[in-house]
Amino acid sequence: MAVIIDGTAIAEKVRNEVRSGISDLVRERGEAARPSMALILVGNNMVSHNLVRMKARDCEQVGIIPRIIELPEETHEDALLSFIETLNRDDSVNAILCQLPVPQQISTKKLLAAIDTSKDVDGFTARIDADKTDIAACTPAGIMRMLREYDIDVKGKHCVVVGRSNIVGKPMSIQLLLHDATVTVCHSKTQNLSSFTKQADILIVAVGHARLITADMVKEGAVVIDVGMNYPEGKPVGDVDFAEVSKRASYISPVPGGVGPMTRAYLLKNCLELAKQYRR
Ligand code: NDP
Repeated sequence: MAVIIDGTAIAEKVRNEVRSGISDLVRERGEAARPSMALILVGNNMVSHNLVRMKARDCEQVGIIPRIIELPEETHEDALLSFIETLNRDDSVNAILCQLPVPQQISTKKLLAAIDTSKDVDGFTARIDADKTDIAACTPAGIMRMLREYDIDVKGKHCVVVGRSNIVGKPMSIQLLLHDATVTVCHSKTQNLSSFTKQADILIVAVGHARLITADMVKEGAVVIDVGMNYPEGKPVGDVDFAEVSKRASYISPVPGGVGPMTRAYLLKNCLELAKQYRR
């Protein structure tokens, strides 16, 4: 049976680190240096509303000042971009997050490009030539930490990432390359997916398809990280068939209680790191 990676416990450890990091920062540079995150919410999407409230609560619990900005569904793209520009120049805010998805009249690409890199707390504008010291997208950063906590070294390992989204799959593969893994990235056009997944020493799945990865697609002893969050019967289910794959894997992250809490914790960690680098 696989060791179950406890994302909830590691996330608590990360939150404690952030809390004490913020205390140190405020002690050294004064209250004005306390991290502050602008959370922009455009439109009426209820899931987004709940997520933003949850992120704001997470901020408060570690000592980050959250500032929720709610804009109407019909907000024009230009208006949002110029509002972001104002926040870029606002010294009382060191981190900016715009909750996705945004209404269709707004280009997500333009919106993300408008956020000043030095305030991009989601890490979505990370460059292809990023190095280990740059802020990484929260989910890949959280996964790298999970692996470190269990002494799983990716160096020289064959890591297979299923999914190539801008927020998980692509930045995940960059993080793995930065840490000297050999990386294969699969996607919806990949032919014979299992021929790749079966080669993985470390398999990271971010697709959004409940239980896509079955035991016969996994090498004996592989490390399996499940990013997926699906609700086929109302309860959260990952992209990996946990019950069967956990009999073959050496380590496996569960859903819930795996990657999800780590993503939340790394948003806070990124905010602290940006605040440390921020000079008003
Ligand atoms: P996207 O929909 O943006 O990307 C999904 C990726 O999976 C695409 O690259 C797509 O390929 C690929 N894909 C789709 N079907 C298949 C298939 N049958 N075989 C192989 N690849 C396939 O999703 P996200 O990356 O945003 O999220 C993925 C999952 O992770 C979702 O369930 C989401 O809810 C969850 N998630 C969880 C987080 C957490 O913190 N736990 C954080 C972020 C996401 P193509 O590019 O060809 O379309």
